Amino acid sequence: MASVSIEGVQKSFGATKVIHGVDISISDSEFCVLVGPSGCGKSTLLRMIAGLEEISAGQIRIGDRVVNNVQPKERDIAMVFQNYALYPHMKVRDNMAFSLKLAKRPQAEIDQRVNEAAGILGLTPYLDRYPRQLSGGQRQRVAMGRAIVRKPQVFLFDEPLSNLDAKLRVQMRTEIKELHQRLKTTSIYVTHDQIEAMTMADKIVVMHDGIVEQFGAPLELYDHPANTFVATFIGSPA
Ligand code: ADP
Ligand code: MG
Repeated sequence: MASVSIEGVQKSFGATKVIHGVDISISDSEFCVLVGPSGCGKSTLLRMIAGLEEISAGQIRIGDRVVNNVQPKERDIAMVFQNYALYPHMKVRDNMAFSLKLAKRPQAEIDQRVNEAAGILGLTPYLDRYPRQLSGGQRQRVAMGRAIVRKPQVFLFDEPLSNLDAKLRVQMRTEIKELHQRLKTTSIYVTHDQIEAMTMADKIVVMHDGIVEQFGAPLELYDHPANTFVATFIGSPA
């Protein structure tokens, strides 16, 4: 586990600045939710933390290490996407083992980690199926399994539940939180859904047009919204 520190981070695409200077400090083991309307820069910020997007200014630290120039696979993070990004031609077991195989881990360790993750996620009976033979919720669990097997310092989630129906979304929220309580891996979770943010977060970052409007615990934001945007967005009676 590790803290994540985002210090004066900016991002421009060509002449267009989309992140205007973000400062957030996420503690070790914390579950932090980045919430804000579509287009406000959530994915861009997450992608910079993951190393999938260059940082235009400022720095990001994971633990004690400044990672601005560190390759994604060296950052000790794992990312879970909205569209699962599973390999359709690979069985569940091989989808989950893939990154460990790339990292040339011994086969016995790969099997052990895949079996352990499958047990945690209730996927043991499905290890020899292909993604197309699974339900949406099961596929999402496989996507999480691929992240878990790596035992990363930090999990990054980009709207992982937005393709699921409402009922499953509520169930998966609980599952992700239980997983976090069990593994205590520092997590940064992006959503545009206020309810998801309020129910899942230890800390919430409310973003709007490339800036942070407020950063704090859910109740703090609800009781003391920093401005009208936060009040309206969070739905507090200010
Ligand atoms: P969110 O995830 O909050 O919906 P994004 O981070 O995807 O927002 O996008 C923030 C802004 O940056 C948007 O205006 C989007 O159009 C722009 N943007 C994102 N990626 C690129 C890119 N590769 N090139 C140019 N503009 C981009
Ligand atoms: Mg996004």
